[in-house]
Amino acid sequence: MILEILKVVGRENENNEILFLETLKALKTLAYSNIQPKLVLVKYLLKIFEAMGYKLSLNKCPHCGLNFGTKRYFSLSEGTITCSACKTMDSKEISQLTHNSMRLTLNCDYEKLSSLKILDNAISDAFNLLVENFERKFDYKFVSTL
Ligand SMILES: [Zn+2]
Repeated sequence: MILEILKVVGRENENNEILFLETLKALKTLAYSNIQPKLVLVKYLLKIFEAMGYKLSLNKCPHCGLNFGTKRYFSLSEGTITCSACKTMDSKEISQLTHNSMRLTLNCDYEKLSSLKILDNAISDAFNLLVENFERKFDYKFVSTL
């Protein structure tokens, strides 16, 4: 799946050192640690979005700049996580756990990912959201699955 991601973003951005480094780190983590692969992919996808200029705002609503309240929504058309006031027509609510799993993963080094305590459900939800977001952003359908 990582190779697929690289193939897609690589055609838009050929000499991107960040992409290259992230890919190496992600592959190394997958190869050498006993880790849930989706967790690595969540981090990798978040970093790829960042490198491609689609960084997700995980700490504040990107529209109004306020901290997230009790509810948060993922907007498929925008690929953003917003507060309830700023959600779009196609937004779906995501749980705080899912949201937190993305935040924790993004802020954690690859080497330490395996020590994070995150529920499998939250990882899967985050993974599915990010994959869906990737497919929309880059107009691509994954062949491989995890
Ligand atoms: Zn807002």
